[in-house]
Amino acid sequence: MRVVKTVDEVRAQVKEWRAQGLTVGLVPTMGYLHEGHASLIDASHRDNDRTVVSDFVNPMQFGPAEDLESYPRDIDRDAKLVEEHGGDLIFNPEPSEMYHEGFSSFVDMTVLTQELCGLSRPVHFRGVCTVVSKLFNIVKPDRAYFGKKDAQQLAVIRHMADDLNMDIEIIGCPIVREADGLAKSSRNTYLNEAERKAALVLSKAVFLGMDMVRNGESDCSAVIGEIKKLIEAEPLARIDYVKIVDCATMQQITSLDRPALCAMAVYIGKTRLIDNFFTEDV
Ligand code: AMP
Repeated sequence: MRVVKTVDEVRAQVKEWRAQGLTVGLVPTMGYLHEGHASLIDASHRDNDRTVVSDFVNPMQFGPAEDLESYPRDIDRDAKLVEEHGGDLIFNPEPSEMYHEGFSSFVDMTVLTQELCGLSRPVHFRGVCTVVSKLFNIVKPDRAYFGKKDAQQLAVIRHMADDLNMDIEIIGCPIVREADGLAKSSRNTYLNEAERKAALVLSKAVFLGMDMVRNGESDCSAVIGEIKKLIEAEPLARIDYVKIVDCATMQQITSLDRPALCAMAVYIGKTRLIDNFFTEDV
């Protein structure tokens, strides 16, 4: 398992693999890897001959008041995890390797990014689409793996790959949770003891919503209402949004008469956490 810092090194390695007729999977990450990321690496290792993990805290997807500086980083720890899960190459570039002086081309998307996290993080998806497009062009993988934890991101990437004829299979992987239910996230490291307990309200809300849907509730406002009531009872929690949207368009719907995504973003203290469920997974 190698860790490389430059685009040229990635290209040279992938070229060698291609010459041997090997398939390549890509797992894009911002590092500080946990079992959620590991599940994507496992899936890629299962489906492909070789797996590239990108490990890059992408400045372009952070807003000015967000946590770019404090985002946790530990490449040695990440390298160990990637190796243990059968990854073959880590691409860990400096920002200057990805965005040289004069960089001025962006991949932007309308519609799907105008809801949910796109409203509270206006530059986020432009940064995500741009960096993922670059990674696709650098690695040219057969398949790329994304977590359902970032459900809107997964929908946006699928849509982008389709719109722009990117010949890459986009694979969505289930949310990996802590034993008590909290969705694994690199940002969970920001939580103090009291906040860590309070953060459980997100997964409790997801499980409550899933139960309601399982029991036949089809009125979105009823599901959202119960979820909000639960979260609002937690003093350390502040809701950014709780919404139900059409899976394909990310537009809000009122009735669960088609495949839907119930997504939420909640501040626990200063930490913004997200969680969700797809009705098709209930
Ligand atoms: P990040 O490093 O947070 O940008 O995440 C990189 C990839 O890992 C994204 O596709 C995420 O959706 C995925 N991911 C993060 N946390 C989890 C989780 N708890 N379960 C499954 N996938 C996850």
